[in-house]
Amino acid sequence: FDDRDGKIWQNGQLVPWRDAKVHVLTHGLHYASCVFEGERVYGGNIFKMTEHHQRLQTSAEILGFKLPYSVAELDEAAREVVQANNITDGYVRPVAWRGSEMMGVSAQNNSINVAIAAWEWPAYFSPEARLKGIRMTVSPWRRPAPDTAPTKSKAAGLYMICTLSKHQAEGKGYNDALMLDYRGRIAEATGANVFLVQDGVIHTPTPDCFLDGITRRTVIQLAREKGYEIVERPIMPEELAKTQEVFLTGTAVEVTPVAEIDDYRFTPGEITKQLLTGYDELVRRPATAAASAA
Ligand code: PMP
Repeated sequence: FDDRDGKIWQNGQLVPWRDAKVHVLTHGLHYASCVFEGERVYGGNIFKMTEHHQRLQTSAEILGFKLPYSVAELDEAAREVVQANNITDGYVRPVAWRGSEMMGVSAQNNSINVAIAAWEWPAYFSPEARLKGIRMTVSPWRRPAPDTAPTKSKAAGLYMICTLSKHQAEGKGYNDALMLDYRGRIAEATGANVFLVQDGVIHTPTPDCFLDGITRRTVIQLAREKGYEIVERPIMPEELAKTQEVFLTGTAVEVTPVAEIDDYRFTPGEITKQLLTGYDELVRRPATAAASAA
């Protein structure tokens, strides 16, 4: 992914894509002092851009470092990089990390670096194709407790178990993994939040040890606007037996129906369909209309 044309914003300036490099002794690489974001561009506009940059700032603060750019400056930089790469429908990846000035666990005086990349990423699948649903398996890895890891931060280190889970699921022929938390409750997928529909009511796990996704909050609001009852509560995996519909939410996956979780089968129904198309409509609304609806 590093050998291509384009521009990446790095520490305040646009640099050629191939030159956006870090040193091998970067603290972020060795000790995971790194946080990131994932954003989507629809029709040239970044959806919920400011929320993402606020979360990047909070994620860094949770890891004990302060970004050298304000949220407004990050907004401007992201707009600049989207424009510079001529992106209409795409993905934006801001990342912030401690630099390479000192090598060791302690890195109090290391520089804080920020980069923002963006690339074209159109929607490949029609709503009809997406409604077939994906296949998932429960991961042997669990989301850690909030006093074991900084679970509210979108920290690179927390993705170690996501990649392990995802690779294991893919190795068994599944699309993604469902991760339980340290108590054995349903938590989330490897890059998305999860919702269950039981007898017309939507349920989603309380986000007390995993990311309370921006898409998750958007879809909760959308569901309420459509008149659905939605309950945030602890959910044990045994409840999948009395669940009719399951779907994931996330910036990348948007609203993605789930057809299988191991031996359980689900049929994406009216609620999933309504939220999938409702979300598609919302993200493509002009920025001002989407903002006033939010
Ligand atoms: N959980 C994890 C582990 C994720 O990586 C993501 C994607 N950022 C989400 C949930 C969903 O978050 P969002 O809706 O803000 O993209």
